[in-house]
Amino acid sequence: MAITTRGDRAARPRVEMAEPVRDALGRVLDDLRISVTDRCNFRCPYCMPRSHFGPGHRFLPGSEQLTAAEIERLARLFAHLGVTRVRLTGGEPLLRRDLAEIVTRLAGLGFADLALTTNGALLARHAAQLRRAGLRRVSVSLDSLDPATFAAMSDSRVRLGDVLDGIAAAQEAGLNPVRVNCVVQRGRNDGEILDLVEWARARSLEIRFIEYMDVGTSNGWQREQVVTAAEIVETVSRAHAIVPLVRERAAVARRYRFADGMGAMGVIASVTQPFCGDCSRARLSSDGRLYTCLFAAEGLDLRGPLRAGEPDEGLERLLGDRWRARTDRYSEMRASLPIPLRHVEMSYIGG
Ligand code: SAM
Ligand code: SF4
Ligand code: SF4
Repeated sequence: MAITTRGDRAARPRVEMAEPVRDALGRVLDDLRISVTDRCNFRCPYCMPRSHFGPGHRFLPGSEQLTAAEIERLARLFAHLGVTRVRLTGGEPLLRRDLAEIVTRLAGLGFADLALTTNGALLARHAAQLRRAGLRRVSVSLDSLDPATFAAMSDSRVRLGDVLDGIAAAQEAGLNPVRVNCVVQRGRNDGEILDLVEWARARSLEIRFIEYMDVGTSNGWQREQVVTAAEIVETVSRAHAIVPLVRERAAVARRYRFADGMGAMGVIASVTQPFCGDCSRARLSSDGRLYTCLFAAEGLDLRGPLRAGEPDEGLERLLGDRWRARTDRYSEMRASLPIPLRHVEMSYIGG
C-alpha cells in the first residue's frame, strides 16, 4: 500500500479563531475526531461483529467519502469555530491510502494537537512517514498480549507481533508519548490487566483501560460484561501504589501516576463515571456527517452542501448552529433511557 505525501503545506498560516462557540449546555467546541474510513482489517466483536460486518455489509464507496481536500476545508472551518485538537480515526485509518496527505494538510492548519488512533496492524510501515507529514501522537488499540485472546478480540488473522512492531515503530519515529488503548471485557481479557500494566511500564507506554461501551446496536452489549474503572484501578493498586492526577478540563481519561516514578496509566469510565458535563468533542464521519455525540442516531450532512458549492460562510453557519443547538448527554442519562436505543456504529463515526 502506498501512502502519498504532500510536503508543501507545512508553511500554511494558522487559522484565525472566531468567538468560541458554546452548545445549549455551555460546552465549548474544542476537539474534533475525523473518521477517514468506515472499513477495517479487524472485526473486534465489541465494535464490528462479523455477524453484522460480513460480506453482505455495504461499506461506503470511495466517491461517498470526503477527499483529503474536503477534510482540510471542513477542518479549517472547525478550527475557526474553536477546535484546537484533532484526532484521525476510523474504521482503521491506516487503510486510507492518502492518509499522509490528510495529515500534511491538517498539520498545515496549525492545530495544537494532531493525533491518530489505530489498531496498529499497519503502523510499522507508516509511522515514520506519518511523523514526517506532521502527525504528533498516536494511540494504538491493543486488548491482549496473549496471541489467542488477541486473535479472538480482533477476530482477524493479523499477528499480535505486527501490532507490537507498530508500537515500537511509532516510538522510534517520535510519535511520543505513544498510548495504548485497551477495552476490558469481563471473561475475555480482564485477567490480563496487570500483565498489560507491567508490559506498558517497561516500555514507557501510557496504557488506558476503557470500559466496554454500548456503542452502536450490533455488539450485543450487556452491562455484566463491563469491567468498571473502579475494579481496574483496584486491580492495579494491588500491585502498585498509584496516585490520581488532576483531571484536565474535558479530558476523558482519569489518569494515575505510578508512585515509583515509572510513568502513568488511565481509565476511561464512560459507563460508570460519565463525563458529558464538559464534553467538547465533535465527530465527523468519513462521508462528511457531523455528530455531536458518540451515541447520536443522526448526523448533519455537510458533504451535500459542500459539494453543491456552499461557500465557507454557509458551511460554518451550519456547523456553528448545530453545535449551539447541542444538548447531548447520553452517558449521563443511560440508566434512565429506554433500551435499546438506536445509535450510530463506532466503526462509522470513530472512537
Ligand atoms: N480502528 C482503530 C482502533 O481500533 O484503534 C480506530 C477506530 S476504533 C472505533 C477507536 C477506539 O474505539 C479503539 O480504541 C477501540 O478499542 C474503541 N472501541 C470500539 N468499540 C468499543 C466499545 N464497544 N467500547 C469501548 N471502546 C470501543
Ligand atoms: Fe476495527 Fe478499531 Fe473497531 Fe477493532 S475497534 S473493529 S480495529 S475500528
Ligand atoms: Fe460526550 Fe455524548 Fe459521550 Fe456524553 S455521551 S461524553 S455528550 S460523546
